[in-house]
Amino acid sequence: MAAALVALGLAAPAAADDQAGGVFSPRCHAASDSSRSAEAMIDRSAWNCTDTGWQADRPVAWLRFEAADWQGAKVPRHFLTRTSRHERITIYSLDTGGSLRGRSFAEADGRTFPAGPVFRLPLPVVTPETEALLVRIDRPHSIPLLSEAGVVHDPEDAYRSVQEMMLLALVLGMLVLPLLFDITFFIVLRERFVMFHSIMVVAMMGYVLFAGGVISVLASLPVAFLAVMAPLCWAVGCGAALLFLSEFLERGALSRRMRRITYWTGCWTIAVPGFFALQLHATQAFDDTGYFLTIMPSAMVVSVALVHAILRGSRSARFVAAAWFPLILTSIARLLRGLGIYAGPSNLDLMMFLATGIEVVVISLAIADRFLAIRNERDAALTEARMLEQISTRDSLTGLMNRRAIEARFDALLTQGFDTFALVDLDRFKAINDRHGHQMGDAALIACANAIRAAGDRDSIAVRLGGEEFVVLLRGENTLHRAEALRQAIPLRIAQDVPGLELPVTASMGVIMLSRAAHQTMQFAEFYARADALMYEAKASGRNRLAYERLTVFSEPPALRRKAARKGQAT
Ligand code: GH3
Ligand code: MG
Ligand code: MG
Repeated sequence: MAAALVALGLAAPAAADDQAGGVFSPRCHAASDSSRSAEAMIDRSAWNCTDTGWQADRPVAWLRFEAADWQGAKVPRHFLTRTSRHERITIYSLDTGGSLRGRSFAEADGRTFPAGPVFRLPLPVVTPETEALLVRIDRPHSIPLLSEAGVVHDPEDAYRSVQEMMLLALVLGMLVLPLLFDITFFIVLRERFVMFHSIMVVAMMGYVLFAGGVISVLASLPVAFLAVMAPLCWAVGCGAALLFLSEFLERGALSRRMRRITYWTGCWTIAVPGFFALQLHATQAFDDTGYFLTIMPSAMVVSVALVHAILRGSRSARFVAAAWFPLILTSIARLLRGLGIYAGPSNLDLMMFLATGIEVVVISLAIADRFLAIRNERDAALTEARMLEQISTRDSLTGLMNRRAIEARFDALLTQGFDTFALVDLDRFKAINDRHGHQMGDAALIACANAIRAAGDRDSIAVRLGGEEFVVLLRGENTLHRAEALRQAIPLRIAQDVPGLELPVTASMGVIMLSRAAHQTMQFAEFYARADALMYEAKASGRNRLAYERLTVFSEPPALRRKAARKGQAT
């Protein structure tokens, strides 16, 4: 099972795929407890010489290379294999006559080199007397550490080609852009799925760097570090992909239960396989199998969740499925190769890296698509909010600001210098309604509103208080004259806009002016009361006229000012 999953490439694709290039594979392998000596392994019957039955869960694993393999070729000088945690590797040269010469290395002695997650060790000198090389690996943590081992004359023969390295560099480049997109998206959207996607991209970059061997071009890292980072990046990447999926799809694309399963499988995948990826000595007997068994649910849950969401008509799920398709395809190809059903192209693991790059890029497009959808949703909500605000602050007949809006903003407007309060009331308006009907009355009110609206004028604000009563707030020079001009414009505008009225509709005005810039001293109610009193005067003295009053206000501390205003002492 574990071997099949290794073939799936879940941990990291094999580096030593290319057994060409002068790399010789072990002929036989064995496992034992730690008391078994190399002498006991001279006997051929101690070995399993098939390609099956690899064991990384015993205290010691053994490999045997036959000198017959390099007859006529350059003698091997290096042992190499895939990085995985282990305690010690001892390499013996078995010479004619059964004598053994050994060299022993700690884990830290391994040198990584740019051929994937691999490292090498020097061999004891191989002479014409050397019959075989026996390799003892204490506490091995994975099967590829054994099955992908080899001996080679020159490790450069096993290096990745320039083309392969360029492809890996290209994939890395493909991953950088989505990361930048993510940062931009996150600034705008603040959605958690963008964060999960970033984690996923960083993990994938780590995977290409560590499992692809790109990092070994830049630096020679400790074997233990490389051994842990590649599977850890894969586990974190898979887990983040699930977390991403659980939050990324549209609302309703996943049932609550499915969403929760996806989310918790993501957490599990980071925690449990992530833990096994550390390959602690205490878990040596089972962490290899443990890693693959515990990472399995992530693949199943992803598939089920995607099918579930697509059946529910999710557009984002189709994007994600398209993104993950190349990865699934290369994984299946690896599985078939692992099972010996189909050989597949030799650079399959490189195709898998490319599929990883494609996956992240397409997911980024999906995020962009989702980003647009979310932005549209927000725009619609914003428009609706604006409409509601409009409804609550505007008068529906004339479109002017209503009383509620002006009362809410009155203090601020005073601060902005609107120091003239002109109350407008149409004269004998009831008679218009009575003679011409309400519709004509409404038309006259709209015409009046248009007359006082003073479009584009930043220094006047028109308000309909209710009925045929309006207020114009003015600031700047000559406010009284401007108010009077507005008042006189009303009958003309009504006559022009509402033909058929028997008599001109005039207006009366009561105007209050604050003579100094000592604003914020009076409240709306007081202005209104005073203007209304003036209005009464204007009406009483024959209508179609303006009455005004100039108020002088003394600057006082705010508390006193309010009190004074309430008492009507501001004169
Ligand atoms: P005055 O010169 O003393 O102000 O006389 P007036 O008739 O204008 O005064 P009054 O307050 O008695 O009448 C106001 C009228 O305004 C009463 C009502 O029929 C009319 N009115 C109030 N709101 C509306 C409205 O929204 N549409 C129409 N068509 N008429 C309205
Ligand atoms: Mg009136
Ligand atoms: Mg009135």
